[in-house]
Amino acid sequence: MRHRIIVLGGGYTGAIAAGRLARRLHREEVAITLVNAEPDFVERVRMHQLAVGQSLKSRPFSEMFAGTGVELKVAKVAGVDVDRKTVTVRDSNGAEELEYDTLVYALGSGWNTQGVCGTKENAYEIASRPGALKLRDRLARLKGGQGVIVVGGGLTGLEAATEIAEARPDLDVALAAHDGLGDWLSPKGRKHLRKVFDKLGITAHEHAVVTAVEADRVTLADGRAIPAAVTVWTAGFAVHPIATATALEVTDTGQIVVDKTMRSVSHPDVYAVGDAAYAMGAGNKPLRMSCASGTPAAWQAADSIAARLTGGKLPNAPLRYFNQCISLGRREGLIQYVTADDRSVRAALTGRLAAIYKELVCKGAAWGVANPMLGIPTRRRRVRLAARPARPARTVRAEYADH
Ligand SMILES: Cc1cc2nc3c(=O)[nH]c(=O)nc-3n(C[C@H](O)[C@H](O)[C@H](O)COP(=O)(O)OP(=O)(O)OC[C@H]3O[C@@H](n4cnc5c(N)ncnc54)[C@H](O)[C@@H]3O)c2cc1C
Repeated sequence: MRHRIIVLGGGYTGAIAAGRLARRLHREEVAITLVNAEPDFVERVRMHQLAVGQSLKSRPFSEMFAGTGVELKVAKVAGVDVDRKTVTVRDSNGAEELEYDTLVYALGSGWNTQGVCGTKENAYEIASRPGALKLRDRLARLKGGQGVIVVGGGLTGLEAATEIAEARPDLDVALAAHDGLGDWLSPKGRKHLRKVFDKLGITAHEHAVVTAVEADRVTLADGRAIPAAVTVWTAGFAVHPIATATALEVTDTGQIVVDKTMRSVSHPDVYAVGDAAYAMGAGNKPLRMSCASGTPAAWQAADSIAARLTGGKLPNAPLRYFNQCISLGRREGLIQYVTADDRSVRAALTGRLAAIYKELVCKGAAWGVANPMLGIPTRRRRVRLAARPARPARTVRAEYADH
């Protein structure tokens, strides 16, 4: 009987965790199943590129995981029962219940309307592929001189506004930022950002709190209205409600609370990674939703699961940041170097070199996902079974040596 590991979500972190588990454990001892709603891997960090009409490489899971032993289940996760250790999934054939011994929850996140009036009905999002494709259609139909406003002055907002302005110089592009433009960046980073905004003709509305979105404008808290044929909403991400509906310990926003090994603090058979997890990084600060921290967190989760199953040493690599890599269109970029807990330091790389660096980071991230068996050395260890009490088939569960 093999130990059943189910990974929910085949985004950056789920796919990385599944691949890493396959490298660490023997396939005759573990059954690894990756459940994802779509049959292919979506490079979410490129959704702003997709929205302006660029085409992305197709990456079917069936090719990525061929020969790895990871079984793919293309289905939508409808619910998780952490007491019965089951997952309910749905596909075109109906609902099915899957049993697990260890669960890795990596369902990611979607856009966060923050409950702002009219956003759901009137704004466009780029947190998902369907959202980016919808925006792509709409942008293609805009005529020169029409206005686009990007709401959100974070990394995604900066990338979206610059990408749109570069691809469509005929449009009147603006960005509404809650604070000052890029005010968390170093002086060099801020200066460069303003230079690129000026060059691309993007109007920055700073300290602008959007309180309503209509089909042809957004309204700010100070009463001003900014006309826009299209509003792109990038003000944060929200996790899917599935975890909240379980007995797992979650935060107010629905992220699963995990320890340093990415294991749920309430249910030791469950691990969470990526946007869905609430994990502490350097300086005891929660990790922000990003690939930058989600990728090492996925390695940490996979290595911890393997260590607990095989009696190996638990990983204790600190989860830290090195830089924030921001694309500013295809020709410009900004690499802001940061402290371990994500605070900007003086050094920043700008210009064309930064654009190339960011492109390499995106390519590297996708390559790592798409080639789970290449790169790092494969170190498979034997699962150490402690006892296998005889129980009815439905609830049979192997007990593994922990430490
Ligand atoms: C435009 C944009 C640019 C970004 N740029 C950067 C960047 O430069 N650097 C950076 O670090 N981060 C960036 N991010 C953030 C980064 O993309 C996310 O933090 C990262 O994708 C999180 O990984 P994840 O595995 O948790 O979730 P995801 O990558 O979102 O993967 C979740 C997976 O779960 C699947 N799923 C969801 N619900 C279900 C369900 N019910 N059933 C089955 N499957 C389901 C989805 O289909 C998806 O495959 C960017 C985000 C966006 C939107």
